[in-house]
Parts: sequence; structure tokens; C-alpha cells
Amino acid sequence: MTGLVFYYHGKSPNQAFDVLHSAIQLSERHSLTEYYDEFLVDAYVLADDKSSRTVAIDFDNTITADVDFYLNLIDAYRSDGWNPVVCTLRDRTESDIEEMKALLYDVPIDIYTSGGNPKQKYMLAQGICVNLWIDDFFPGICPEACQLLSNNGIDP
Ligand SMILES: [Mg+2]
Repeated sequence: MTGLVFYYHGKSPNQAFDVLHSAIQLSERHSLTEYYDEFLVDAYVLADDKSSRTVAIDFDNTITADVDFYLNLIDAYRSDGWNPVVCTLRDRTESDIEEMKALLYDVPIDIYTSGGNPKQKYMLAQGICVNLWIDDFFPGICPEACQLLSNNGIDP
């Protein structure tokens, strides 16, 4: 398996990112860049609401890109007092949920399905602020020119 390149452009300290950063270093396979390059980056790590303890992890091409890494990461977040959740653009069909749960080895984790809607808005409508997003497809989180993207150094 080839290493994944994570993008993070946080300007201020972020403890939610620190957990991921440790996991990346421990993996000795994945790496980190602060340069936005859509041809190089595999997963975008976007800092959102600092007061939240929720970390939203995308499923397709994020968790599925290295399931063992993300299962360990989910564990690491839990043991450090964070609330890791899955947030996907998929619909909430029974087969989708079953497929995702099976890949996560039935680890109990909340799965949020935005059904193709922008994830940030969708989560806020559920009353959930997210501290950190981990996602291979940032346009799925919020539309172009949204504050979250520019705050994280992305100017699509
Ligand atoms: Mg994805």
C-alpha cells in the first residue's frame, strides 16, 4: 500500500490535529503537507470549530484508503476524549450502512449520511459542530468560497 498524503494548513495549535499528526508519524508510511495541490493530496484535514470535540471522518476514499490506519486513529481519538464520527455523502440506505459497518469491523461509531448535501451545513442542522474534518473531497464539506476552505488555505 502506498502512503497517503494529508493536507493540513492550520495556523494555530489544534489538539484534534495533534492526535492525527501522531498517528501519521507512527504509521511511517503516510505523510503531511501544508501545500494545497489537488494532484498530490489524498486527504484534506480542515480545522473548523475549536470548541467542538467531534472529528468527522469521510468514508469513501478516506477510511477505505487505509482501513487499519483509520481504525487505530478512531481508537486514538476515543482514548484521548474525542468523539470521532463517520460523515459521508452517501444516502442512508440499509445496504450502505451495512457495507460501512462491515468494513469498520462493527466498531460502534456514529455514521452521518448527508445524502449528497454539503456536510458542514448538514452536520450543523443535526446540531453537531465539527472540530476537524478529514476528507478526500473538500467540495463535499462546503461549497466553493466558503469560509472553512479559505480559513484552511484552500482557494479553489
Ligand atoms: Mg470520500
